Amino acid sequence: MTAATATRAFRARGAETAGRSDHELRDLVRHAGAELELAPAEVIIEWAVATFGQRFCVTSSMGDALLAHLASRAAPGIDLVFLDTGYHFAETIGTRDAVAATLPVNLLTISPLQTVAEQDAEHGPNLYARDPDLCCALRKVRPLEQSLAGYDAWATGLRRAETRNRVIAPVIGWDAAKRKVKVSPLARWSDEQVDRYIADHGVLVNPLQYDGYPSIGCAPCTRQVAAGEDPRSGRWAGTPKTECGIHSTDAAPTPLTHHRDVGRLERSLIP
Ligand code: SF4
Repeated sequence: MTAATATRAFRARGAETAGRSDHELRDLVRHAGAELELAPAEVIIEWAVATFGQRFCVTSSMGDALLAHLASRAAPGIDLVFLDTGYHFAETIGTRDAVAATLPVNLLTISPLQTVAEQDAEHGPNLYARDPDLCCALRKVRPLEQSLAGYDAWATGLRRAETRNRVIAPVIGWDAAKRKVKVSPLARWSDEQVDRYIADHGVLVNPLQYDGYPSIGCAPCTRQVAAGEDPRSGRWAGTPKTECGIHSTDAAPTPLTHHRDVGRLERSLIP
């Protein structure tokens, strides 16, 4: 099958599967979660593409392009969602641009409603230092929730080996906060499997990974870690915070007092 034919088939499947109810989606999670728990990542992604078609997207924080590489092989033209918080390292934006230029993905860059300057004007400067939960809610969690409105399922690169918080992450789960099926094809992958896939397939990696940043978030909230340190210890270092909230699947939708919380969306089709 050519890339163009595969893309057309992918789009057609999406049209057939629009509008599943929460009950139907949760049923899918129950059955597929057990069946696919031990399946290879490629099979998990192929299941998601075949089941949800155009109503399935992949997200990436651009630490590397592994998940985007896997997904674009299964479904050329697949939607790849990237959250541009306005606080990213230049290397992360460069990785996004390189991914868009080299992989057959439909890159969707999501921005919060407010620029950093507008947020500073409303909440005061450096909100990330005073109230990182609110900053993450405004710049990450809520924009992602809004951007996923047109999908039934989303994929993340989340892995159980990353943190203690993620050791029970299901391969196929129900994201209660977003009311979506959450697909984590890499959930069972070790660090060694990630390194091997990247080396074998020449996958793009954010250059910061080679400079002491094994886990890359926003620049003000990410520091270098020393060899042997917990790879995620550089995130919100010196605070109790360990997650931005995007993966808090059992929580209610993020409460916000701001009434204009719909993120901006830039679309660019990458052939
Ligand atoms: S990681 Fe830091 S800068 Fe980025 S949205 Fe969260 S608190 Fe704000």
